[in-house]
Amino acid sequence: MGLDRPKQDSGTTKRSRARLSTAPLGDEPKVGMCNWCHHLRFALQGSDFYNSSFAWRVRQLMQSRCVSTIMMLALAVALVLPDLSKLMDVSQNVWPDTVMTMSMVMFTCELLALSLTDANYLFSFFQCMDMVGTASMVFDISFLMGVDVAEPTLPDQDTAQSRVMLLRASRAARVGARAGRLTRILRLCRCLIDLDDEDSSGKRRKIEQLEPKDEAQHPKRNIAKVISVRLGNLLATRVACLTIFLAMVMPLFDVMAFPQKDLSLDAWVGQVSYTNEHEEAATVSELRKMAKFFAHHSYGPFAACKGHLVHDKFVCSEWYQDWDQVNSAPVRNASAWMVRTPTFQVIFDMSRPVKVKAAVALLSMLFTVCIMLCFSIALSSVVTDLAVTPLERMLGTVREIAATVFRFSSIVIGQQEEEESQSETTDIDNAGEMILLEKVVEKLSAIAAVHASIEHVLDTEDMDEENIGILSMLHGDHTSRSSFRSHPLDKERSQSRILRITPDLSLEANGVDEETFNSLRFNVFDLTPLQLNKMTFHVMLSHASSAAIFNGAHGEEALLQTFVSAVHKGYPDNPFHNFCHAVDVQTTIVKMMKLTEADDFLSHLEQCSLLVAGLGHDIGHPGFNNGFLSEVGHELAMKYNDRSPLENMHCAVLYQLLAKPETELFGSLSDDDYKEVRRICVETILHTDMACHQNMVKDLNLLYQIHAEALRQSASPQPGRVTSRPSIARPSRRRRSVLEGATDPSQIFSAPEHKMLVMESLLHAADVSNPAREWNVTQAWADKCLEEFFAQGDQERSRGIPVQFLNDRQKLNRPHSQIGFIEFMISPLFAAQIWLWPNLFEYGSCLSLNIGMWQELWEEETDPSEDELEKAYPVKLILPLCRFWNCCVSVCFYGGR
Ligand SMILES: [Zn+2]
Repeated sequence: MGLDRPKQDSGTTKRSRARLSTAPLGDEPKVGMCNWCHHLRFALQGSDFYNSSFAWRVRQLMQSRCVSTIMMLALAVALVLPDLSKLMDVSQNVWPDTVMTMSMVMFTCELLALSLTDANYLFSFFQCMDMVGTASMVFDISFLMGVDVAEPTLPDQDTAQSRVMLLRASRAARVGARAGRLTRILRLCRCLIDLDDEDSSGKRRKIEQLEPKDEAQHPKRNIAKVISVRLGNLLATRVACLTIFLAMVMPLFDVMAFPQKDLSLDAWVGQVSYTNEHEEAATVSELRKMAKFFAHHSYGPFAACKGHLVHDKFVCSEWYQDWDQVNSAPVRNASAWMVRTPTFQVIFDMSRPVKVKAAVALLSMLFTVCIMLCFSIALSSVVTDLAVTPLERMLGTVREIAATVFRFSSIVIGQQEEEESQSETTDIDNAGEMILLEKVVEKLSAIAAVHASIEHVLDTEDMDEENIGILSMLHGDHTSRSSFRSHPLDKERSQSRILRITPDLSLEANGVDEETFNSLRFNVFDLTPLQLNKMTFHVMLSHASSAAIFNGAHGEEALLQTFVSAVHKGYPDNPFHNFCHAVDVQTTIVKMMKLTEADDFLSHLEQCSLLVAGLGHDIGHPGFNNGFLSEVGHELAMKYNDRSPLENMHCAVLYQLLAKPETELFGSLSDDDYKEVRRICVETILHTDMACHQNMVKDLNLLYQIHAEALRQSASPQPGRVTSRPSIARPSRRRRSVLEGATDPSQIFSAPEHKMLVMESLLHAADVSNPAREWNVTQAWADKCLEEFFAQGDQERSRGIPVQFLNDRQKLNRPHSQIGFIEFMISPLFAAQIWLWPNLFEYGSCLSLNIGMWQELWEEETDPSEDELEKAYPVKLILPLCRFWNCCVSVCFYGGR
């Protein structure tokens, strides 16, 4: 609905606000509204007149308290005056007619004014009923179609059939019209319901007119209140219609039986007329008998005459006096009924029945009004209890979620600013909360999809043994992470301590050129142990200097050298989990931090901590996995109660080193910084346990889903880039987003609740990044890894415990197990990371190439049957590849996702 609203230029903001705010509270749903009504409404809204200041003033006037009060009085008069004048025996037409005519004119003016200046009133239920109600007043004004009270009434029995029909129609119209007039009472109901919206100055504040400052005071109330008012009005309208139908329209069925006659009147007049014709002298005695009969009634005859009809008018030739008549002529002529035969006429005083009838009519009307009011108020409170209070609570939560979800979303921030600058009203159609609500729901469904996809992966029904073996690595708990904590490390603070020193990795000294080092073909196996030490030393030194851990004091370099050597010594000579792996992980972290532009969201101290964690993350690794340690009851499994025993041990060994005076890297840090560095090392190393893998992938996907807009906007790598190394000339993502006015994604990654996840994922991704390198590097690492697995398998066999499938050198097919490993573990992790940091896409490209290479190897080695081949290309394998491909293509060619 908000989309097809005509555009407003800034000059008409005030008027447009007024226009938006004129939506009647009882606006009917537009579903059933005919097309041309909608077009007419729309045309009216777009017209110059509608947007003119005159129309705006009229609107304001119609909504003012003064006009509302006057209209309410006019309505009260229109409702009760006709019956009240009967009760009060008003015997002349002038003043009731004057009052009723004035009311009618006022209603007509209001009807016209609202129809022309309020598009929402046009063709609404209220306009219909107002028209009927206003038109109905012609039956209450004597000079139009009403009853002339100065003339006696002719009962219906003698009138011609056509006249009966007319009376029937007019009575029906009058009953229906009174119903129409009654609907105006609904406005009174609204006033009562809105009473709590009146401020101290008495200025009327309908919910639609709430000023922005009030929104700030009651941020949660607005939309709930608007919904409540709408709901209340819709319900009240229906209850009112039902009440009016029952109280006013149901008696219409009586109209079919109308006229209802008191036969005694006709019978007596006929009897007297007969006597008068045949035995004129007995007329008076007959009249006396009639007077005696009616003496016990509340009504009776008071005059009688002989005569004849001339053009439907009875001309009396002789009046009869002194026949003991009890009644006298009524004050109000219209209460006198003339009952006649062609030759005789008796006039009855019907004032008491007429009064009773008027009183009953008044009572029924008051009763109807009371019921409508009571039910409206009762409904309003029910609506408040049932809908508004829960809605307010729910919307409060939605706002909180939205605040978190959209904290970094420039779209919503932009909208809020726009709303603030335009002083927008809380019209339900364009309420910010509604947009937020929709967006939150969208987010939640995306987040639910993330969950569902993870559950789907865990469905092991048609997996082969390798894949189940891989999944069994994901043993351990999946309980919620505890890493979402804020921490005191302030990037700016630590940055301000010292200017960053340009890293000098002394790569050339180690025989590695910078391009190779930064590429995915960098192979630590090419380095000698001494070169490994040197490289680590230089990497650590430059980062420690940047982080102001080292400030050039004497002995620092020696300490670092000792530390690196100690770490090197701490790694046993395993096929895979050795110092080479540690250096490989550390250099991969350096690369990833460059690609992700980590300078924007991690302080130098945090980066340095991450590198220390990377170097020490597998220190003391015995060459067996956690499952084995638990199975054999190893002392580590005993010590750490089977909960990540290896990772706990790595942390402990690393910190034993860091506690020694000769390797005390963090000795110069303040207590707070030291604690923070320790927290980072411990958390990130503990999260290298594969048992944490699934949850990490899920959390990364959630992080992306929650901030998709902001990340998408800022992701604009240069089109056609083949390599993703950051170039010096290219502005950083942060600067780009500043230049383009978008939200800075670094704010997302540096938010306290996300930073630890980001660091954990960097270390973990580096730890398992072997399958995402150039083919020869990947293959070399895969061989080392399986060598270690098989060694464990041999141990398992010799100890007589079950051999884990991946460790069984007799059964395992190497290429096939690698395909499964990439498919289930590595590709979801890298996919999630590439969404967050598109510059990492090169790892994705390598993964998809390598999976093809493993496939070829597998086909060469096993010569699989058609069936097996088909099974090897399941959707679950293709999907991650497609995701990479899409991702890479869009990043490379479209500059975004
Ligand atoms: Zn590792």
